[in-house]
Amino acid sequence: MAKKRAQSKRGGRKRSRGPDYSLQTLKIVCGLCVLALLVIGAGFLAELLLDQPRVPAKAAKAAVEPKQRYRVPPVAAPAKKPVYEVFPQSSPPAQAVARPSLPERLPQIPGERPPLVAIIIDDIGYDRHIAAQLMELNVPLTFSMLPNAPFSRQILPQARAKGLEIMLHLPMEPNEYPEIDPGAGALFAHMAPDALIAQLNANLDLFSGVKGVNNHMGSRVSASSEQMRQIFSILKKRGLFYIDSRTAANTVAESSARLLQLPFAERDIFLDHKEDAAFIRNQLTLLIKRAQAQGFAVAIGHPYPATVQVLQEFLPQLKTKVSLVQASTVVEQSMLAQANAAHAAR
Ligand SMILES: [Zn+2]
Repeated sequence: MAKKRAQSKRGGRKRSRGPDYSLQTLKIVCGLCVLALLVIGAGFLAELLLDQPRVPAKAAKAAVEPKQRYRVPPVAAPAKKPVYEVFPQSSPPAQAVARPSLPERLPQIPGERPPLVAIIIDDIGYDRHIAAQLMELNVPLTFSMLPNAPFSRQILPQARAKGLEIMLHLPMEPNEYPEIDPGAGALFAHMAPDALIAQLNANLDLFSGVKGVNNHMGSRVSASSEQMRQIFSILKKRGLFYIDSRTAANTVAESSARLLQLPFAERDIFLDHKEDAAFIRNQLTLLIKRAQAQGFAVAIGHPYPATVQVLQEFLPQLKTKVSLVQASTVVEQSMLAQANAAHAAR
């Protein structure tokens, strides 16, 4: 009886201990579940909080500053001298590309005003010593400045004080890109209109008192009438002229300029695509002939020691045959000749 009672007591203890274990296990399981839910909830909350500010900030920026998406990043001036020009390799040779729209003028009458010649020196800004030598020639050269060149700020006021006309030498994509880099501030064929215009405006804002623009390289972009019209719409708005350096035989600059009635002229002679004194002398002789035939001519040279040396020697002879003027004067003359040719054709 006592054994039975003891057994029943043990069994009772056993029965009473069983539910205790289950309750504890259940509590632990429930605790773990709550913990897991809390962790998952906290994760979602964190993700939500981190995501939320990103979206409105982006939207607000786009709404407030739509144009700043195309802000042109400041470009550090490359210390190394760039490739100055890519001369057209096409046939006929660059200097022989004639302007069919302009009639040859009659032989010069004695006592008549001599033909007008503008000499533009491209790629200014990388060599201040040659720039100083060119300024010392004391003739109305036109300096065409490359954007972001290291010595532009020094050269610009000196050139202006000497009465030189200033142009922007606008780098544009050549057919040879990427083997040949047009340099800082370049306009590329793949650019969307607003990106292209932002870059052009940034380049123009670098130099105060710029009167016109000519292209540095640019054989690819010069063949795109759409991009030339985009460029010219800005030049027109700013009251600037354009001189086609004619680095490509298939350039469409002239027809695009005519469409927008932009003051326009073309390069007649490259003076120094060979850095050789005899070659440059010969090019200057061709320049005189071209000016006598047309009544005006545009020459483009580069800041090479040979160019400075030959100009120094040749200038007295040049001055007896032509009148050296700034680029804008030749542009006016070229526009007049084109208007006369159009009138005569009617
Ligand atoms: Zn150039």
